[in-house]
Amino acid sequence: MLITFKQAVAKIQAANKILVTAHVQPDGDAIGSTLAAMQILRSIGKAAQVYIDDTARRNLQALPHFDEIRRPKDGERFDADLMLVLDTSTDRIGNVRKLTDAPILNVDHHVTNKGDDGELYVETTAAATCQIVYKLARELGAPITPDVATCLYTGLATDTGFFQFSNTGAETLAIASELINCGVSPNFISEQLESKTLAEVHGLRDALNSLKMFYGDKVAGMTLDHATAKKFDSTEGFIDEIRVIDTVDVAFLITEKAPNFCRVSMRSKGVDVSKVAARLGGGGHLRAAGCTLKTTLSEAEKILVAAIGEAL
Ligand code: 5GP
Ligand code: MN
Repeated sequence: MLITFKQAVAKIQAANKILVTAHVQPDGDAIGSTLAAMQILRSIGKAAQVYIDDTARRNLQALPHFDEIRRPKDGERFDADLMLVLDTSTDRIGNVRKLTDAPILNVDHHVTNKGDDGELYVETTAAATCQIVYKLARELGAPITPDVATCLYTGLATDTGFFQFSNTGAETLAIASELINCGVSPNFISEQLESKTLAEVHGLRDALNSLKMFYGDKVAGMTLDHATAKKFDSTEGFIDEIRVIDTVDVAFLITEKAPNFCRVSMRSKGVDVSKVAARLGGGGHLRAAGCTLKTTLSEAEKILVAAIGEAL
């Protein structure tokens, strides 16, 4: 069910023990928004704990309070009176869903989130969930400490491609400016986030070697097979290297994470890739979306290329 911002604030104010979570394959916005929310909630006297049912890529592990994130164990339960689900619908939180039967408050910015599970405040014009969490913090009267600001800025920066994508709005930059006033060092965060291991750079080379063009060069795609993909833990930024090709509208990367388990990333300059992803069981935004295809790499490529072709 959809609720308003004011109703979301009231739900938080009425709760005392809050379980905070975000999506598996967490990105900067997922980790940034949950860690910021945890600190904000604690600062206004709530008990709050972050659970995420996945590992995070190395660059995000330096965020303040990262080491407090827990991963649910088999059969584990957590005593909470509210579950705050950030940056995703509840179908992408893995076993965190089983930790509690507490009511769900879902706060997100994805157009594909329809609020089928719990109460949803969705702001599709927000560049990042961190942008909404910032406004929640202000409304709740919580202090924006340098640590909170660092987490929030990370989500804003990563979901906007460092303030370059079309979701970068005046409000995004105004909040980023506020966060700098609260103690953020943009250069420190950028350096941290852009850092890659040598294995990742080798992986990028392998991905670029796989580049194929489709539909009169309007679509560019790369694939990474499991033997290659298992050598490094993140493909963050790979797709941006082909998104820039001047003829390209849609770029994709398919990573075979495990046999018959292919993760798809899409970026676009025009086509609504959230619809393509949603048709294949995933979701996302107009210009950045993804899904999982449980099949071989070559079959996944066929399915995806056909679905993109229909959207062109
Ligand atoms: P990325 O390509 O960076 O992994 O994801 C791009 C966008 O699509 C992000 O906003 C991400 O949350 C969303 N997304 C990626 N994969 C999935 C998926 O399997 N399901 C849904 N609902 N959203 C996804
Ligand atoms: Mn996000």
